[in-house]
Amino acid sequence: MKLTIHHLYADMMNLYGDRGNVISIKKRCEWRGIPVEVVDVGLGEPIKPTGCDLFLFGGGQDREQTLLVEDLAGKKGADLRAIVEDGGVVLGVCGGYQLMGHYYETPEGEKLPGVGVFDLHTEPRKPDEERLIGNVLVRVRGPEDDRWREIVGFENHGGRTYLGAGVEPLGEAVVGFGNNGKDGTEGARRLNAYGTYLHGSLLPKNPWLTDQLMLNALRRVDDAFELEPLDDAAERVAFESVANRVRHG
Ligand code: GLN
Repeated sequence: MKLTIHHLYADMMNLYGDRGNVISIKKRCEWRGIPVEVVDVGLGEPIKPTGCDLFLFGGGQDREQTLLVEDLAGKKGADLRAIVEDGGVVLGVCGGYQLMGHYYETPEGEKLPGVGVFDLHTEPRKPDEERLIGNVLVRVRGPEDDRWREIVGFENHGGRTYLGAGVEPLGEAVVGFGNNGKDGTEGARRLNAYGTYLHGSLLPKNPWLTDQLMLNALRRVDDAFELEPLDDAAERVAFESVANRVRHG
């Protein structure tokens, strides 16, 4: 069994270190002896699922998002929707997350169509509104075990994302703005598709989430698969260093 990490628009959507998410998954597979391969999926390139897959869609500026919406509007977007409906594991961060909804509206009023994986949309900041920037602490209820956990990250977005009725947020923004700085939600989750505004990159400092994404992908091949525990001392230090700073302002 080999896990294939599909890095969507790797050279375009890689803001604030989001490539670290790919590196984190790859290393945590290698440290456990799990075969893993990274496949960059660029403009005009098809998504080729292998059956044991994890799809990553990083963040990007308005310019990059505009450049890729046409590519998403075609078969690639339809394939992504089908992958999510089939329970495929997808993580969208910020700009990638926004384009997993119905649309992202730029400050210039251009509505960039998304793939509609999540019932959500993103509106631009008003001229008198600031970008939503800073460290973030989020409480997440893991659907796998219904346990509350925390994740930390960094956000920098102008867009305000509003979830449709009944859409499950990824979690509650304990500190920081999250989806829109108003309703206290952060991100979205549906089936095995996750969306979040947390850069940082997200996964290296939140190893439980990294492992959960990997496990969800590996168990699509072997539903009894278990991950050997790793020594996450360094990851815990990284998490606490941000969480403590954020908690105490
Ligand atoms: N361009 C989008 C926004 O400003 C997303 C930014 C990002 O990916 N950090 O909201």
